[in-house]
Amino acid sequence: MIRKLLIANRGEIALRIMRTAREMGIRTVAVFSEADRLSPHVRYADEAVCVGPAASSESYLRADTIIRVCRETGADAIHPGYGFLSENASFARQVREAGLIFVGPSPESIEVMGSKLAAKAAVAAYNIPMVPGTPEAISDVAAAKKTAAGIGYPILIKASAGGGGKGMRIVEREEDFDEQMARAVSEATSAFGDGSVFIEKYVTSPRHVEIQVLGDQHGNIIHLFERECSVQRRHQKVVEEAPSSVLTPEIRAEMGRCAVDVARACGYYGAGTVEFIVDADLNFFFLEMNTRLQVEHPVTEQITGIDLVKQMIYIAEGKPLEIKQEALAINGHAIEVRVYAEDPANNFLPDVGTLSTYERPQGNGVRVDDGFEQGMAIPIYYDPMIAKLITTGATRQEAIEKMIRAIDEYRITGVQTTLPFCRFVMEHEAFRSGQFDTHFVSRYFTPEKLVPETDPGEAGLAALLAAWLLQTRKPKPETAEAGAQPVRSRWKENRLH
Ligand code: ADP
Ligand code: ADP
Ligand code: MG
Repeated sequence: MIRKLLIANRGEIALRIMRTAREMGIRTVAVFSEADRLSPHVRYADEAVCVGPAASSESYLRADTIIRVCRETGADAIHPGYGFLSENASFARQVREAGLIFVGPSPESIEVMGSKLAAKAAVAAYNIPMVPGTPEAISDVAAAKKTAAGIGYPILIKASAGGGGKGMRIVEREEDFDEQMARAVSEATSAFGDGSVFIEKYVTSPRHVEIQVLGDQHGNIIHLFERECSVQRRHQKVVEEAPSSVLTPEIRAEMGRCAVDVARACGYYGAGTVEFIVDADLNFFFLEMNTRLQVEHPVTEQITGIDLVKQMIYIAEGKPLEIKQEALAINGHAIEVRVYAEDPANNFLPDVGTLSTYERPQGNGVRVDDGFEQGMAIPIYYDPMIAKLITTGATRQEAIEKMIRAIDEYRITGVQTTLPFCRFVMEHEAFRSGQFDTHFVSRYFTPEKLVPETDPGEAGLAALLAAWLLQTRKPKPETAEAGAQPVRSRWKENRLH
């Protein structure tokens, strides 16, 4: 039994995990950097400990400090969330060696799946469709070029240790091969400390569809259907949904079976995600496995009614899975949009600043997972995601309608956000029809699309109205200040080092 859980993360995911822990009667310990002293995750936890300066490498990534805090606070388990130490096999091993419970898979599973090449080798014994490519790291450029010619251009050069959409290069023509290869190796070396790269056929008109799996420590593995994550910028997801509008029940069952086999291939337990790329003819190919709770996990929770964090905790405690595959069904449709402090009109560049207005949407079918309050500054040190906005409806159409309504209710000023872009997606014919792929953004989106259309006759009136609204809605400085203060007085309980 876990009695006290340390959450080695920040922001929305730390809060999300703490909420489930609290429901389960488990006490929580937050860790925070100096930049996050006033963050909601710090206030929500039963105890909070500062683990260092703002830079992640000196705080959230300090495995030794985090394990020490665990000992000092008497926490018996660590949930790593996503990002930071979540896919760090060495950390998982240190946690185990310290006699603590790691709420996640074994270090061995993390290690295998942390390398895209090792992952492919591990699943080779199973009948899992794979994108044509090189099965090993490229050591001979001339031989690799030959393979590429055999596969046919365009091809992708990928870093085996890559992640977060980084470490990939598309090569359109053979003439560009050598140069792109050299760049890919040097980028992989500097970003991931591992220069191993390999080739994959570049699937044209690709959709990104992934399967959520859950495995226990007794060899039971189930899948919780798919998430469609094809709306991406810089190979990173911005809109996700479940179920996918293109899968048939047969393909879904087949992908589910493959995902369970991938998990089985590495003796997986915990929550994990098996990612596939799906081509225009609905052939699917295994890409990689993410050995952690995924950012977009809420859409799966919404359509299955299963709390994934609760399952992760049960699994970490050694309990057998109680959910049976046959008992699972898809109920309704859920969509998530990631609200980033980024300027969609300016190439999605991060736009950090202070949230002078921050009002969440509410109502039936709306879930907001966030880690900010009005008046808070968005630190430059971390991922600029402000929130995840999730809507659930009986049908896809209903989920889209709720999303547009929720986006319109969301009031954020002080920083540019991806909300107007997400609204553009929701209204776009290609998205509405379900006929889109990972090129959605490059194909359809330009910043001008964000300017609302106005009837020329109404333009003058609209401008006046806009000016008036700006005037009256400008936040008063003292209101913004007040927002930065703790709402609830849990301070005395918290240990601020
Ligand atoms: P998802 O959970 O949907 O796969 P992302 O791909 O955006 O979401 O990754 C989740 C988080 O983990 C992000 O904050 C991302 O920056 C981070 N991340 C994932 N893989 C890596 C990696 N190999 N190196 C550094 N950060 C990573
Ligand atoms: P990461 O570790 O960065 O998440 P992935 O292998 O999961 O790397 O790929 C990230 C994204 O890149 C995918 O969601 C997809 O959009 C694109 N991608 C990856 N492999 C291919 C491929 N072979 N063909 C076309 N697109 C691909
Ligand atoms: Mg991926």
